[in-house]
Amino acid sequence: MKIAVLGGGISGLTAARRLRSCGEVTVFEGRDRPGGNIRTDDFDSCRVEWGPNGFLDNSPPTLELVAELGLTERLVQARSKAGRRFIFRQGRLRELPTKPPLFLLSSALPLLGRLRVLLEPWARKPPRGEETVFDFARRRIGRSAAEILVDAMVTGIFAGDPHRLCVGAAFPKLKTLEARYGSLIKGAKGRGFGPTGTLTSFDQGMEVLIDALAEDIDLRTGAELSTIPSGFDHIYCALPASRTAALVDGELAKLLRKIPTAPVAVVALTFDHLPQIPDAFGFLVPGNQGLRILGTLYDSSIYPGRAPADRRLFRILIGGRRDPSAIDLNDQKLLQIALGDLRKAWGRTPDPRSHRIFRHPLGIAQYELGHQDLVRQIHAASPPELHLIGSSYHGVALNACIDEARNLPLPGSPPVS
Ligand SMILES: Cc1cc2nc3c(=O)[nH]c(=O)nc-3n(C[C@H](O)[C@H](O)[C@H](O)COP(=O)(O)OP(=O)(O)OC[C@H]3O[C@@H](n4cnc5c(N)ncnc54)[C@H](O)[C@@H]3O)c2cc1C
Repeated sequence: MKIAVLGGGISGLTAARRLRSCGEVTVFEGRDRPGGNIRTDDFDSCRVEWGPNGFLDNSPPTLELVAELGLTERLVQARSKAGRRFIFRQGRLRELPTKPPLFLLSSALPLLGRLRVLLEPWARKPPRGEETVFDFARRRIGRSAAEILVDAMVTGIFAGDPHRLCVGAAFPKLKTLEARYGSLIKGAKGRGFGPTGTLTSFDQGMEVLIDALAEDIDLRTGAELSTIPSGFDHIYCALPASRTAALVDGELAKLLRKIPTAPVAVVALTFDHLPQIPDAFGFLVPGNQGLRILGTLYDSSIYPGRAPADRRLFRILIGGRRDPSAIDLNDQKLLQIALGDLRKAWGRTPDPRSHRIFRHPLGIAQYELGHQDLVRQIHAASPPELHLIGSSYHGVALNACIDEARNLPLPGSPPVS
């Protein structure tokens, strides 16, 4: 059996590995290297990620894949000091509490906002039908927490707009907690609200995983497709939905075009010494706080070995669903925005010693109102030999992409609904 996999991102490469047992697999990747959003580069003696800086180590399919590839020994967990996270509110950075009881003392939210969160168990019942992430959060924990904390969370994961994302599609666990326990606080008791795993990467960065996956497969790079390749019994298409739309016709193309993405530009900066900036994971900026940057990752604090001992590496994210045209700004302008906003958050800051700018025009898929229904219609409109997979449909996190690709229906099984 001949199988084509379209797209050499994490979804396509993981799928190709699973499909090898069924026949002859060829992967078509448009760029000159595989990995999609994942790419690790060296610059100014630092190791920098273009896109994802890791995954949570709580997903068995990812850990199994890593073990199969012989990479377990090369896993690196985020340092404990990367547990500190900040939020920019009213002109300064405020630390987020690491334990729920400390929340009442934290200045992450104004006092009334913090007290309102405590009323969460008595929130109104969910409306019939879908709800945006913002409406869900406002109903359960109040406007202030929705505008500050939840807005920042949505930025950190989707670079998205909480007024458009569908809570059931983008954060299904929150809906499950509500349905099962009637309250997020009751449901999360003892477990906290945050992710339960530890952020994890590899000794030489995320591209280690891509390099290992790309070994031993028939990978055609520089193969930008404008039609579905012929001569294959099955096609597993792991392109962003808007790219898949360009390869198919009619109703299916129309449906696929309805799944938007949030473009993201990443400005990586290195500084000599910056003792006034504490080691931390980084900070996020809620949309209503007057900065253009979405947030900053303190990369050299998160993992060991990403920068020489006397140097700091940061990545500033700009763009996203609410500011999509930012990705078209030239390097100089992006650098100026990044530095200007950093100085508003950090105070007086010297010029960086070096910078690099990465652009992700297709960025991160957005699961907006109507997404789940749209995905059902897309699967129903796809011919049986065309299998649509990847981050556009069932989860944008690397763990979700790997989980989906490792549990794919093999050729001949009924399509995913
Ligand atoms: C800046 C940023 C930071 C992120 N951080 C994290 C994080 O820390 N943790 C996390 O879990 N997730 C993170 N994500 C999300 C995660 O990176 C993505 O959801 C995931 O990598 C998507 O993988 P994919 O294989 O589905 O798609 P992609 O990575 O988009 O791969 C699709 C591939 O298809 C190729 N392609 C497109 N069109 C064609 C064509 N016509 N012909 C041939 N090939 C084509 C592309 O070149 C690409 O290689 C981040 C995303 C971004 C942008």
